[in-house]
Amino acid sequence: MKIHNKPKKRFGQNFLQDENILNKIVREINPQPEDLIIEIGPGYGSLTQKLISSTENLIAIEIDNELAVSLKEKFPYLELLNEDFLETDFSKLQKDGKKLRVVGNIPYNITSPILFKLIQNNKLMKDAVFMVQLEVAKRMTADRGTKDYGILAVVLKYFSETKLCFKISPNVFHPKPKVFSALVHINFKEIIYPEEEQKLFIQIVKATFGNRRKILKNSLSNSIFHEIDFSNSGIDLSLRAENLSVDDFVILTRHAIKFSSGITRK
Ligand code: SAH
Repeated sequence: MKIHNKPKKRFGQNFLQDENILNKIVREINPQPEDLIIEIGPGYGSLTQKLISSTENLIAIEIDNELAVSLKEKFPYLELLNEDFLETDFSKLQKDGKKLRVVGNIPYNITSPILFKLIQNNKLMKDAVFMVQLEVAKRMTADRGTKDYGILAVVLKYFSETKLCFKISPNVFHPKPKVFSALVHINFKEIIYPEEEQKLFIQIVKATFGNRRKILKNSLSNSIFHEIDFSNSGIDLSLRAENLSVDDFVILTRHAIKFSSGITRK
């Protein structure tokens, strides 16, 4: 792969240049001909090249105009959207009611917004396979009781099953990032909860972990939920967010919904 332009830091450009790692990533994605695959940030197309031969429905989304031009030349038949993935309208990506598989060596500076965008659209999602910064991969896949357990882990556990597949050295990229990377695989669950509950769940998790050191009683009363009395929610409010399981957060969420609908008042 030849790099024509100066890599742009603002777009998180670190191009992958290792055939072995690329093959390992493709093995994890395991693309099937009928899959609908969305690649975020194809860059010069090192992963695109491998995916294009194994699936009929590949859509690549690249923000950088210069890269988009070179991708068009290299892959004339590739369906390419030259835009910011964070602005992409998911209804545009729909094909024959197929669920989306979203993959990529994504720009590390927008990992969280990308994840939350997929979560918002979870009904349309099958899975996601991403290269992210190793620290973030750990936070995405952490279990309760570990120091990495926080907003990302809890929210992802509610919506999906996650796996940290393998670590990736900075040496396989150009330019070399300062950090290790890792591949993560997110398999979205069939979510049957109402959307109101999903949104509130995320807000509760953010409110309690926003004050990670505080016990729940204090973090909740310092948050947008300060008007809700959680004392008879069934959760011990002298615990901290990091002690709670996903089910515990669901209990808090349902309590908040009941309380707001006037069933229990302070
Ligand atoms: N997949 C390529 C490039 C990875 S670098 C490889 O592995 O070699 C990250 C890529 O994401 C770059 O091509 C960058 O231009 C692109 N990018 C950055 N922000 C983006 C955004 N908001 N939407 C779509 N693509 C973006």
